Amino acid sequence: MQAIGIDIGGTKIAGAVVTESGDIVAEDRVATQAHDAEAVVDAVIAMIERLAVGREIVAAGVAAPGFIDAAQSTVYYTPNISWRNEPLRDRVRARVPFDVTIDNDANAAGWAEFRFGAGRGFRDMTMLTIGTGVGGAIVSEGRLFRGGYGAGAELGHLRVVPDGLPCGCGAHGCIEQYGSGRALLRMANEMADAGGIGLALAEARERNGQLDGHLVGELIAAGDPGALRALETLGHWLGATCASLSAVLDPQVFVFGGGVADAGDLLLDPVREAYRQHLPARGYHPEPLFVIAEFANHAGVVGAADLARQHAAGLGR
Ligand SMILES: [Zn+2]
Repeated sequence: MQAIGIDIGGTKIAGAVVTESGDIVAEDRVATQAHDAEAVVDAVIAMIERLAVGREIVAAGVAAPGFIDAAQSTVYYTPNISWRNEPLRDRVRARVPFDVTIDNDANAAGWAEFRFGAGRGFRDMTMLTIGTGVGGAIVSEGRLFRGGYGAGAELGHLRVVPDGLPCGCGAHGCIEQYGSGRALLRMANEMADAGGIGLALAEARERNGQLDGHLVGELIAAGDPGALRALETLGHWLGATCASLSAVLDPQVFVFGGGVADAGDLLLDPVREAYRQHLPARGYHPEPLFVIAEFANHAGVVGAADLARQHAAGLGR
């Protein structure tokens, strides 16, 4: 039986029909009319209807950014679309002939890695998505961890530096300010300003007008010492954060996703090193694996579809 997964992003809504083994058999996408919350609801329903034509669909899962309640039905808050306490599941469910669930987008992506990607075969997984910001997902004893109200696993907003840099969430010193793609750019700019091994970064900034993720990624791939130093600093913060997460969650595997994770072991090596330095009672704590995510762009739709399928089957993951 196939399920539909929908992933509502800031610029596009992606949808797919997904098999029980996590394979995509049909896809769709439209632009997100983020300024019009009603239009987004209509676009999601229309996409589900289009994807369902001629197919036996068991359920549809919708992934959205922001806070979703633990019952997978209400969007408490989403940053780019003006949904506030929006009963999205009931509104979609009223228009389609199968079960519907709503999940946080980072949770859906993490679930896809756990079921079909880098976390498969494990029981306890923690995922950190290093994109512009830092997203997170936790699977504990084979179940997606949502928290008591559904707003758990916001790993990007763990505070790592008391009175540190201000964060978009309103707090200070969150790991998102020290371990994200945006943080990497800030560190690369600091390297460029300092001269020395930052020379190639400074030259690239001069040529291009500014540094961006693509330029820094190219310099990392070319082995530029300044860009590598910035990445190591980022990895150090992330590794220290993983040590704190291990003290609470004790995952068997940490999965790193997002654009910055394309750096592979160049990111993971400093993560592992900082993890060992910061782990409480190190030497006795079994060490988790640190791996790169396997899904590139489809984790959200695949995870949302699988969570919906499990809910329809009464498994309630
Ligand atoms: Zn924050």
